Amino acid sequence: MARRPLIAGNWKMHGHKSDSFDLVAGLLAKRGNGPFKADLLLCPPATLLDRVGQQIAGSDIWLGAQDCHSAVSGAFTGDIAASMIKDMGASHVIVGHSERRSQHFETDAMVRAKAEAALAAGLSVIVCVGESAEQRAAGQALSVVTAQLKQSLPPGAQSSRVVIAYEPVWAIGSGQTPTLAEVAEVHLALRRLLASEEGAEAAQFRLLYGGSVTPANAVQLLALAEVDGALVGGASLKPESFWAIALASPDITV
Ligand code: PEP
Repeated sequence: MARRPLIAGNWKMHGHKSDSFDLVAGLLAKRGNGPFKADLLLCPPATLLDRVGQQIAGSDIWLGAQDCHSAVSGAFTGDIAASMIKDMGASHVIVGHSERRSQHFETDAMVRAKAEAALAAGLSVIVCVGESAEQRAAGQALSVVTAQLKQSLPPGAQSSRVVIAYEPVWAIGSGQTPTLAEVAEVHLALRRLLASEEGAEAAQFRLLYGGSVTPANAVQLLALAEVDGALVGGASLKPESFWAIALASPDITV
C-alpha cells in the first residue's frame, strides 16, 4: 500500500505579512494547477494563519499551526486553543516539536493531551519525536523515540488524521543529518511500534523525516522506504527550496 508523501513547512517564528505574501505567492506560482505527487502543508506563525489561509484558498495546499493548547478554553494567556486554529481555516497542527519540548518543557503526556485536543477540534496532527545528540551518542536513539511515540500518540490514533515526524533534535537547523541508514532504522522502529499499538492500521501512517532537509538531500531521504515526506524548517522559508523538496518526493505507484 503506497502512502502519499506529505511535505510540511514549519516557518517557526519567522515571517511578517509582507514576506509571507511573497513566499506563498511564489509557491503558488510554482505549484500551478493539476495533480501533484505530494500533499503540501504550510505552518506559519499563528499571526499569519488567516492571511496565508486566504492566499491559499482554492488551492490544494493545506494550512497548519505550530502548536495548540490542550484545553478547550480558559485562563491561558498567550496560548491558542485547537478550535481557534480550526476557526482560522487550518486543517493541521504540529504538536511536540522539539523546540516546544525543550524550551517550554512539554512532556509526552502534554503532547498527547494537545494531540487529543486537536483531534477533538477536528484538526489533523503532526506528532514530533526525536532524540538529542547525547542520547544518540549513548546508543539510545531507538529507545528514546519509540518511548516518546508510545506516550505521545493518542489512543486509537487514525492514520488519516495523525502524522508522525521523526526529527532528531541535533539535526534541526544545524545542517547536520543522520545517515540514511540511521533514518531508515528509526523509521522502521517507529513503524514496528505502530504495528504493535495500532495493528494493520500501522502501514497507513505517514512517517515524516525532519531536520536540515534541503533540496540537496531530499531525494535520498524521501526515497527511503519508510519515509513518507518531510517536515521542513529553514528551507520552507523560500518558495524555491520548499518546492524543490516537494519535487523530490518519489512518484507513487498504487
Ligand atoms: C523543524 O523545525 O521542524 C525543522 C526540521 O527545521 P530545519 O529544517 O530548519 O532543520
